[in-house]
Amino acid sequence: MPRPSPKKTPMREQPPEVRIKNFDEVPYGYSEEEAKEEAKRCLQCKNKPCVQGCPVEIDIPGFIKAIAEGDFWRAIKIIKEKNVLPAICGRVCPQEEQCEKYCTLTKIGEPVAIGRLERFAADWEAQQGEIEAPPKPTPTGKRVAVVGSGPAGLTVAGDLAQMGHEVVIFEALHKPGGVLMYGIPEFRLPKHIVEREVNYVRKLGVKIITSFVVGKTKTIDELLQEFDAVFVGTGAGLPWFMGIPGENYNGIYSANEYLTRSNLMRAYLFPEYDTPIARGKRVAVIGGGNVAMDAARTALRLGAEKSMIIYRRSKKEMPARIEEIAHAEEEGVEFHLLTLPVKYYADENGWVKEMECIRMKLGEPDASGRRRPIPIEGSNFKIPVDTVVVAIGQSPNPLIPQTTKGLEVGRHGNIVIDPKTGKTSRKGVFAGGDIATGAATVILAMGAGRVAARAIDEYLRTGKW
Ligand code: SF4
Repeated sequence: MPRPSPKKTPMREQPPEVRIKNFDEVPYGYSEEEAKEEAKRCLQCKNKPCVQGCPVEIDIPGFIKAIAEGDFWRAIKIIKEKNVLPAICGRVCPQEEQCEKYCTLTKIGEPVAIGRLERFAADWEAQQGEIEAPPKPTPTGKRVAVVGSGPAGLTVAGDLAQMGHEVVIFEALHKPGGVLMYGIPEFRLPKHIVEREVNYVRKLGVKIITSFVVGKTKTIDELLQEFDAVFVGTGAGLPWFMGIPGENYNGIYSANEYLTRSNLMRAYLFPEYDTPIARGKRVAVIGGGNVAMDAARTALRLGAEKSMIIYRRSKKEMPARIEEIAHAEEEGVEFHLLTLPVKYYADENGWVKEMECIRMKLGEPDASGRRRPIPIEGSNFKIPVDTVVVAIGQSPNPLIPQTTKGLEVGRHGNIVIDPKTGKTSRKGVFAGGDIATGAATVILAMGAGRVAARAIDEYLRTGKW
């Protein structure tokens, strides 16, 4: 066998100067030939280290071998045995922290591009027309309510439907998909891809009811009268603010609101769609995670002349994926590192016009393991801005914890669960994803959904809690 190339087969993408003027997806995806070439780099390791890094345990060498042999149907079938959202995961999962991190090829260079190959297989199937669903299992007569249609909810629902249970998803917004729909921009995850995979979950037999707010329209206790079990996957949508003077001025958004307006409400197509959005000329995004990169890149596409990331540590400590930081840099986003906003100033109409910042230096590592940022006294300076997006994190949604008696809630507002089963302190109620762990990743939420589905199935069959 020839020694594999130390580099991944490159994926073609829109050049930066073109893509900052549109909301189309940045990478084009592999062609059949490129996918086969990349799949042939895989060593087919007997001990499958990559699978150990996959929260949903896809048979990675199995599907890659099928691609290398040109049997794309077999490839997608293998993936869908474990993952109902392959086109989404192939695009937004942090593979460099998961499957690809454990790939044997990292010893000689870059890992196999597992995410790109997963995306290729899912898109290839969609291009063939109808997406196949497995045959329907014998109904068990048991009913499960799933609250929230994000990655955790869709996974738990898909798994339970394939086990023969009747599943109904309740979604608060008018479109299913949760954070996949409202949180991630079109240029990173096109909404038609989310719709396609949500429709696949429907095809498995899952019913989805939208505009239904559990905790208001009906409580968990009311659902428990109609259903044998409930899974709560309502995510982390409660934005954090810094609590500094002037943060209430006009033009200062939470990333959650800014991105929801653009992604879900299609504000970038205003006035064709009737949700407006601030099209700032000088936009500052506070934070260094993926959400901050999404907001800064969205601002450019909305016509900003300057889009800035303001982050209190150095680039090395940024939690965003390396690829997202690189994309933002290529597009011209300015990085103001070791910088912390301390105060906002407004014009006579209450619109933000300036941001006062202080320079930081790095001290010893803190509890997170990252070096602690320390303000440098007397280093204050001002940056003119007309829009600010605060992207420093989110807490779990509080509605269900507040309206469900006897549900144990943690210090950060998260629902307390047994991580091995997703069981909460209330019999028949399971939870998983960001509502239990705080804001994390799509694939971790899916992994939690998978764990809970197994435990729910066992509970429904045995009645044992
Ligand atoms: S670890 Fe890498 S090379 Fe080995 S089977 Fe998995 S993807 Fe292939």
